[in-house]
Amino acid sequence: MIDLSTLTIQSAREALKAKKFSSRELTQACIDAVKDKDGNIHAFLEIFKNVLDQADEADKKIKEGIDLPLLGIPIALKDNITVAGEHASASSKILENFVSPTNSTAVNKLQEAGAIIFGRTNCDEFAMGSSTENSAFGPTKNPLDQTRVSGGSSGGSAAAVAGGMVLGALGSDTGGSIRQPASFCGLVGFKPTYGRISRSGLMAMTSSFDQIGPFSKTVEDAELIYEVLRGPDSLDSTTITEEIYPKQKNFDKTIGVPRMFINKASENTKKNVEEAIKRFESLGYKVIDLEFPTIEYSLAVYYVIVPAEISSNMARFDGVKYGLRVGGENGIDDYFKTRGVGFGKEVRRRIILGTYVLSSGYYDAYYGTAENVRSLIRKEFREAFKKVDLILLPTTPSSAFKFGERSSPLDMYLEDIFTVPANVTGCPCITLPFGKENDLPLGIELIGDLGREDNIFKASKEFYG
Ligand code: GLN
Repeated sequence: MIDLSTLTIQSAREALKAKKFSSRELTQACIDAVKDKDGNIHAFLEIFKNVLDQADEADKKIKEGIDLPLLGIPIALKDNITVAGEHASASSKILENFVSPTNSTAVNKLQEAGAIIFGRTNCDEFAMGSSTENSAFGPTKNPLDQTRVSGGSSGGSAAAVAGGMVLGALGSDTGGSIRQPASFCGLVGFKPTYGRISRSGLMAMTSSFDQIGPFSKTVEDAELIYEVLRGPDSLDSTTITEEIYPKQKNFDKTIGVPRMFINKASENTKKNVEEAIKRFESLGYKVIDLEFPTIEYSLAVYYVIVPAEISSNMARFDGVKYGLRVGGENGIDDYFKTRGVGFGKEVRRRIILGTYVLSSGYYDAYYGTAENVRSLIRKEFREAFKKVDLILLPTTPSSAFKFGERSSPLDMYLEDIFTVPANVTGCPCITLPFGKENDLPLGIELIGDLGREDNIFKASKEFYG
């Protein structure tokens, strides 16, 4: 019997190499787990039909002695990452029947590394949300407490791993959509430096923030997936090379904590951060207070720039180029009808907000100002990373909330207060499961300087010993 709830990718790789089980057996165990558990949880929208064929291919390679980093390991994908010949809907009605003609670069890289492309997971529509309640196909429940959300927007990927249905999954993180659901479900979630992983084949939400990244049970597994996915790509001109960000300092175990900012969290969360600080100090880390006057504007900046980019990225869904088409009286009526029927409430809200902040007369006051403040925040982060290797924050203001509990959009947006600074600045950031609230997991975040994923992984591994 393969126990998927405790098995890690690393240990599964060892077991596959030692022929303790085959990739076919492992993949079948994942299929059975989905059949068994996912009726209630709803992490998956689909398991791809050819998964067992992919597993047989992997087993052939294992027999031939070929060694690849993810050979034979089933990995699930958020429904906004494309696979050639498979549906990809971004959990939206407008793309319900869309079949992708091409692979995303991330999927190409997973395949080159021998992974089984297992299936697609539920998410907030076009990755807009913090609870997966905005999916057109119904919400995903938190496997640790089914009265609560799994987080969002990559809630399906988090629930798929935390529910013991696959060993690893990919999500996308524009403002926390990997880290927040990972934290709610007791997992490790990682967002790399902006540009580190190609966005080619990731459906764009906010092009200047979006990054793909992994969900896993351990830091080692997250690093393994990250190493497979990273690297420049000619199909994405925003991908970066190693040299682009000069190293500002050598790692000397220094962590900065913006305590003034953390004051905005619940008492439990603040206490939890202090516990994490104690643990780092006992490991020989120097923890210092950081003055960070601009960090608290990250959320406001985020919720101006993000809708602005969304309003232009969503323009391609016009009833002509892709997906749903609802016919009207004339061309413009087709457009209104298709988009009115095809998009859910949150997507429409953000298109309207974004169009407003970009409109002539308001552009300078909103979008222009937000971009200027973004530059100030980036500068302050860069300065901070001359003094410290990492910045420590809580991942979320509290543990997983109940369905319907954040029904006002503003309450929902406040969920992102601690995750968005890493996106606004482009910095890499990990969430590590640490501590509990109401018996549910909490997480802490470590943000690194641009291009310094190495520091994050070093400290995270030391944190768990
Ligand atoms: N919760 C944030 C939002 O709704 C983050 C989304 C994301 O990272 N994709 O914008």
